[in-house]
Order: sequence, then C-alpha cells, then structure tokens
Amino acid sequence: MPTRFRLYLILAVVVALAGAVLAFGAHRQRMAGHGYVVRFELPQAGKRIGLPAIKGPQDPARPLVVIDAGHGGHDPGAAGADFQEKTLTLGLARALRGRLLAGGGIRVALTRDDDRFLALAERREIARALGASVFLSIHADSAGDDLNIAGATLYTLASRASDALAAQVAARENHADRINGVTLDGQSDAVSAILVELSQRRAREEAGALARLIVREGEGRLAFHPSPHRSAAFAVLKSPDVPSLLFEAGYISNPDEARRLASPEGQAGFADAVDKAIRIYFARQAGN
Ligand code: ZN
Repeated sequence: MPTRFRLYLILAVVVALAGAVLAFGAHRQRMAGHGYVVRFELPQAGKRIGLPAIKGPQDPARPLVVIDAGHGGHDPGAAGADFQEKTLTLGLARALRGRLLAGGGIRVALTRDDDRFLALAERREIARALGASVFLSIHADSAGDDLNIAGATLYTLASRASDALAAQVAARENHADRINGVTLDGQSDAVSAILVELSQRRAREEAGALARLIVREGEGRLAFHPSPHRSAAFAVLKSPDVPSLLFEAGYISNPDEARRLASPEGQAGFADAVDKAIRIYFARQAGN
C-alpha cells in the first residue's frame, strides 16, 4: 500500500477511535471514594483469568485495593539467606489486607493468596477486571552479594526509566514473564498506543500522588532508600486505567531487613503506613 494511503487509513482509524472514546466519556462514572477513569476494553492478554474474591464491604461504591504479592509458584523471585521473595511478599500482602479490612470502608482483593505463579499481565488484568481503584504490587529487592544495601522504593510506570537503578530493577522484575515463556501485550500498534497513553497519563499521576503519600506516612515506620520514588517500564504496572504502584519493600539480600519484613512487627509497620496513605489518598479523591 502506498505510504500516503496508509497514513490516511491510520488517521481515519484514530479519528473513529477518538470519537468512540469521547462518546464513552459521557459514561464516566464518579464514584464515592475514587474519582473517575475512562474505561475501554483492550484485547485480553491470553487465557481466561479466574478472579479472586473481594473482601470487605459488599458495596461496589467503596474503593477497591488490589494487592499483588510478587512472584509465586515456580518463580521464587529474589532470594536472601533465609527467605524467598515470593513468601515475603505474600506475608506483607496479607498483613496489608488485614489492616485495610480492620479499618473498614475499603474493599480488598489479593491477586494470589497462596503459592502460585501468575504472569505479569494476568496480575494487572485481575485488577482491571475487578475494577480496582488502586493496584499495589509488592516486591523485595536484591543487591546480590552486597548485604548492606537497604531501604524501600516505590516505582510508578514510565516509558523511560528515571535512572539506571530503576531500569535494572524493572528488567529484573519483568524477567518473571520469561520464566514461563508468556508474551505480553497484543496492543503495540500505533492506534491503541495513543488511546492507552491518554488514559495511562491520569492513572500515572494518581499513582505518583499515592507514592508520595506512602513515603510521607512511612516516615519513622519504614526505612526508605535515599531516592524513594522512581519510575521505569514495569510490565505489571501497564494498566491503562488503574493507578498502579510497585513497592520494593526492602532488600531481601540484607539479612536484617529481610528478617524485619518477615516479622509480625515489620509487617505491621508496613501495613500501617500503607493503610494510612491509602486512606488519605481516597479521602482526597472523594473531595475532588
Ligand atoms: Zn520481585
């Protein structure tokens, strides 16, 4: 096809899709507690996903936090002397769920509540399918043989990494998909990229606001890395319409930090800080 016709064709498709999005805008919902987002269907990433149960108030107007315990099953994630990342993340995810449910008013679902493997796309698709207000993927970092490096970091999505370390962490976390040979994203054509970008921008801004709140509320409770908020191209964060965060809660390669994150006290501190930040975030959203 001559280049010019191809351009016209792409242009026509873009205009048609933009119209569809605008029409959809009329259906934007403003729900108590979590603002609004434009939702549109994208191709499913592959096989059908069994959706986890939602706990807490059975009122769909209540905000929904989907917590994702990183790794699982045949993918243990990073390993320290005494712990595996997949076990540590599940402990933190359950602690946070317990804290959010105890505080009331918020619905919670875990992408996995046992030791099973989920592809990265499945994790974010669970959040989208449930209509999550926020998606939080929990991980623990590794600095290899350097046992002294410690501190938590919050990551939001960016096409370009904020720095070299962020790029390394994203590459390591995205590796989970290659373990199972799963390919991601059937949506790489130019047209859907434009639509996804529009909606992703807002979700990214909201995720950034929540990340700043978690750092603020975590002061004195959690040990953060000197630059605690970074961004990179994490596959698990690529929802076009759900504010998504990846929380490297600390370094599993640091024995003290790993032990703390695995302890009931460490898990409670983590859950408390994130719970407070999430409540402030939802209160602000409701006020907007
Ligand atoms: Zn991880």
